[in-house]
Amino acid sequence: MQSVTKRFDDVLAVDNVSLDIEDGEFFTIVGPSGSGKSTLVRMLAGLERPSAGSIKLRAEDITDVPANQRPTCMVFQSLALFDHRSVGQNIEFSQKMKGVAPQQRRAHALEIMDIVRLPQAFYSRPVTQCSGGEKQRVALARALASDPDILFFDEPLSAIDFRLRKILEVEMKDLHRRTGKTFVYITHSLEEAMVMSDRIAIMRDGKIV
Ligand code: ADP
Ligand code: MG
Repeated sequence: MQSVTKRFDDVLAVDNVSLDIEDGEFFTIVGPSGSGKSTLVRMLAGLERPSAGSIKLRAEDITDVPANQRPTCMVFQSLALFDHRSVGQNIEFSQKMKGVAPQQRRAHALEIMDIVRLPQAFYSRPVTQCSGGEKQRVALARALASDPDILFFDEPLSAIDFRLRKILEVEMKDLHRRTGKTFVYITHSLEEAMVMSDRIAIMRDGKIV
């Protein structure tokens, strides 16, 4: 992103930020609450339009490309899962939207469950019967199923208790290695950032400091 600014009325959420993220890296943005992290990543994902500046993906200007037409995916917290559906139906959602045949979808979902270390027996299980950590893995699998180039994570582990969080931090790092995709990760914990990242940016008052 080049000279990107985002203003909400009188609030300057992101203040003239220029940033290059490398293909395949685990890039983490750390900063206190209100420093503009979510706004920055939402612009990268296409969920928010910059007030000024431009966003490029490789050589292409994508500033005005909507989120659903970018080869990127925001991983929301497990809360964003369809609770009344099975694990498999959740993971297959994007493929179903694209009209992929059921058998093919299932094979693909099972492959991805393997990548995120979800046992195949979970395929037919309702999401309501999954633990917090399992739901997190379903959310990850669902994002991976659409095969994005870049995954964005906005504090995905913040609501999870300490012990499980420590396990999932290591799993995130592993997952990054196994998929080879670009991860852009937000946290307010420098410690968490240090466990996982190739590179860390510190954000304060809308600026990368
Ligand atoms: P962080 O994710 O680091 O906590 P945010 O990007 O959510 O920070 O917010 C940065 C600033 O922008 C805050 O002052 C916040 O109140 C403001 N802000 C974020 N989104 C909106 C919005 N949709 N409307 C108005 N102000 C917003
Ligand atoms: Mg935030």
